[in-house]
Amino acid sequence: MFCPFCAHEETKVVDSRLVSEGDQIRRRRECLQCQERFTTYEKAELVLPRIIKSDGRRTEFDEEKIRSGMTKALEKRPVSTEAIEAAIQQIVHRLRASGEREISSNLLGDWVMEELLKMDEVAYVRFASVYRGFQDLEEFRSIIQSIKSKVTTQI
Ligand SMILES: [Zn+2]
Repeated sequence: MFCPFCAHEETKVVDSRLVSEGDQIRRRRECLQCQERFTTYEKAELVLPRIIKSDGRRTEFDEEKIRSGMTKALEKRPVSTEAIEAAIQQIVHRLRASGEREISSNLLGDWVMEELLKMDEVAYVRFASVYRGFQDLEEFRSIIQSIKSKVTTQI
């Protein structure tokens, strides 16, 4: 973050708060060289927890990847784009609300599956089969069984 007054590279954050319904972070910064203060608005995505992949590598949360995975699972299913967007926002909200610095990709995958299950059972099974890497029919049977039992408990 460069100082807009003297272009010095080092600044310190003197205040930080979420604004516009939590989508943005407003930061008050002070230049370590000229002591001028200025305000920046940063997208809150910048402070979302990082994702720990199964091989242990860390990666930035990629909303586009979630969108494309869900859209693929929901292909030709009667679910509106608005509903998908709302589900993605719900996932982003959970990430942000977690307050964690890092979150496992497994947990993220579970949240995606929860959102899919609320929208469409077929999409849920499709996503699960890819995501969990189903090897045989038995795994399909057991996940369908688990949906049925969830539906029954809700009634
Ligand atoms: Zn400066």
